[in-house]
Amino acid sequence: MAEKVVIIGSGPAGWTAAIYAARANLEPLVFEGAITPENQQKGTLPLGQLALTTEVENYPSWPHMESNALAAVLKSALAPERFANIEHLTTSHTGRRTIFGPELMELMRQQAMNFGTRVITDDVVQVDFKNHPFRLTSLGGKQVEALTVIVATGARANYLGLESEERFKNRGVSACAVCDGALPRFKNQPLVVVGGGDSAMEEATYLTQFASKVYIVHRRDKFRASKIMQQRVLENPKIEVKWNRVVEEVLGDDEHGVTGVRLRSTVDDTTEELKVAGMFLAIGHTPNTAFLEGQLELTETKYIRWTKPFRTWTSVEGVFAAGDVADDYYRQAVTAAGSGCMAALDAERYLAHKGWL
Ligand code: NAP
Repeated sequence: MAEKVVIIGSGPAGWTAAIYAARANLEPLVFEGAITPENQQKGTLPLGQLALTTEVENYPSWPHMESNALAAVLKSALAPERFANIEHLTTSHTGRRTIFGPELMELMRQQAMNFGTRVITDDVVQVDFKNHPFRLTSLGGKQVEALTVIVATGARANYLGLESEERFKNRGVSACAVCDGALPRFKNQPLVVVGGGDSAMEEATYLTQFASKVYIVHRRDKFRASKIMQQRVLENPKIEVKWNRVVEEVLGDDEHGVTGVRLRSTVDDTTEELKVAGMFLAIGHTPNTAFLEGQLELTETKYIRWTKPFRTWTSVEGVFAAGDVADDYYRQAVTAAGSGCMAALDAERYLAHKGWL
């Protein structure tokens, strides 16, 4: 029998959609993603991008609290085997702190499961949206039929691909200034932002609130960003642009994390080192939509196209999209969760309209 709602993806959008769908008795089935070396490498393991971050200070309802108290909440809420996955986070920090990404994601997952959500730990690798019920095929070869599908597979930040960058992820290397910029390690320190688009301009400007100085490293001699955002950057006395350069190496050590970057010129062979406490990548995101090619309308940059303002509708009736997979603009956990809720309500209304409830 066809599933009423299948949700693909396990970030804030996916779990919020599951919570709402489960509470509406739609018995949602979530494909949370596969645990594979490829997904590890790409940053697309179950629980999404938030599971790759440390502190999440901007998700409402999680102010700072004693680490012990947080540990008690987690222990009480989660199944023992899931708590075991994150116990090291609760013991390695003392004093007051905010919730960490993996902890928040485990709570969302648990909340969805408490209402009867079923979870398959696998990727959906193929979809047939041309026939109804829709048909989904997983990496492990499982086939599922669905009356509605919510795609919430998110996007992944692009990185430069340096080994040293990988080593210092979460220890000075970040792809989200809004998420990480206010962390103590960056306070009154020089920082570097890589990129020349609107995100780089926005992140650099944002970081000047905390940093002693912000360098922007851009590989060309012109920004791609809109004029107004460029102007804001070029007029900011705290920002210095390093034109025609790329980051060749992230420098640092185990004790301090990032301590600098080595730049290489793109016009000659010169190199130089900058002392910085952090490197923020703003070189674009890649939405996780490869498996949807030819099945759903995507934008030029491969995000799912929402077809009606303030709806999560896509180009295929009965298929909805939530979170970063359809949003290249806000990209926040709370906005993803909000659109997950919208997608579940849209799916429920669609099923009711069709008389399939
Ligand atoms: P983007 O416009 O694609 O810019 C990416 C930047 O990263 C480009 O300058 C690119 O250089 C550089 N880059 C890419 N790969 C690189 C690499 N391997 N090494 C070094 N540099 C690399 O991405 P975005 O800035 O994230 O913006 C995405 C979309 O969101 C855009 O449409 C943007 O307008 C929008 N956005 C809007 C706002 C706003 O209006 N407030 C804020 C953020 C984003 P090249 O220029 O040489 O290609």
